[in-house]
Amino acid sequence: MKVPFLDLRAPYLELEEELDAAYRRVMGSGWYVLGREVEAFEEEFAAYCEAEHCVGVANGLDALHLILRACGIGEGDEVIVPSNTYIATWLAVSYAGATPVPVEPDEGTYNLDPELIEAAITPRTRAVIAVHLYGQPAEMDAINEVAGRHGLKVIEDAAQAHGARYKGRRAGSLGDAAGFSFYPGKNLGAFGDGGAVVTDDAELADRVRVLRNYGSRVKYHNEVKGFNSRLDELQAALLRVKLAKLDEWNARRQTVAARYLEALGEESDLTLPSVPGWAEPVWHLFVVRLPEREALQRHLADMGIGTLVHYPVPPHLSEAYAGEGWLPEDFPVAEALAGDVLSLPMGPHLEPEAAELVAGIVVGSAAAAR
Ligand SMILES: *Cc1c(COP(=O)(O)O)cnc(C)c1O
Repeated sequence: MKVPFLDLRAPYLELEEELDAAYRRVMGSGWYVLGREVEAFEEEFAAYCEAEHCVGVANGLDALHLILRACGIGEGDEVIVPSNTYIATWLAVSYAGATPVPVEPDEGTYNLDPELIEAAITPRTRAVIAVHLYGQPAEMDAINEVAGRHGLKVIEDAAQAHGARYKGRRAGSLGDAAGFSFYPGKNLGAFGDGGAVVTDDAELADRVRVLRNYGSRVKYHNEVKGFNSRLDELQAALLRVKLAKLDEWNARRQTVAARYLEALGEESDLTLPSVPGWAEPVWHLFVVRLPEREALQRHLADMGIGTLVHYPVPPHLSEAYAGEGWLPEDFPVAEALAGDVLSLPMGPHLEPEAAELVAGIVVGSAAAAR
């Protein structure tokens, strides 16, 4: 039995008729950029996130970048970011011309530790980007509280957390603005690239709308030096079909996660994800920690089971940020995570029985290693 890490074809097959109809509708419309489909998706996704505004953009990195620009953040400013995130969080800050300032995660949740934020704040700090890593919401009340005391903007990197809830509230409605990605493998994925900014702030939404379209509100009247970063009509139409399924698909991920937690619970060599009482994660990834990661990964691969590592190199030790003075051991929690995390197969089309089979192999392999 083969278990892929993630089956990207299955969502298409499940919704083939509706997706094909959406495709034909757009293809036959003769209108492909910034039109009715994008407007409708923006309205539907804002409602889904229980927020006021959504602005479709080209990808998740641009969503974060344009939020920073819309907040007036740039050269000479500092933005607090998690030390253990996908590098896009940092790159958005660098794109804006500002400096990412890493803060370590809490060891239980792998999300930004609110207690460590204050020490990283300087007179130049303008914002905090909280990542809802692996689909689990960050501790937003505590983060908003510190940020509020220092007059900082709070930006959610919700690229892995479509539909997640924090104290009953949706990711995307928990800070000043949120960036979402619709990269195909995300919980809500397009058939290509896509992204969105979600916010309750009408002025911020308006500035992002202008920035995404060459800095213009009216064609050929350019107010600022903007960008070309638009969600296209075809992706928007396809995303609308998938959005209707998102809650059901997230629920299926929750079922798979519950099976994993139960089946792996007795295995003392593994550190399992822990979910605080206030979090309703959407299990973008199911990540375990173990000392002999490579051996288990190889063993699972031999059995036809796909796994991945999110992420093997923390941004401060990546080549991209070499030359900025970071040293090994600067961020030991992020470095330890990079060394021992392993993502097991997870997705809405993974059968719970297949997850149990994977868990059985993981437990057997750990026992054999002792
Ligand atoms: C995927 C991802 C992004 C970037 O999204 P793209 O659409 O690939 O640009 C940003 N942050 C996190 C945490 C992500 O997982």
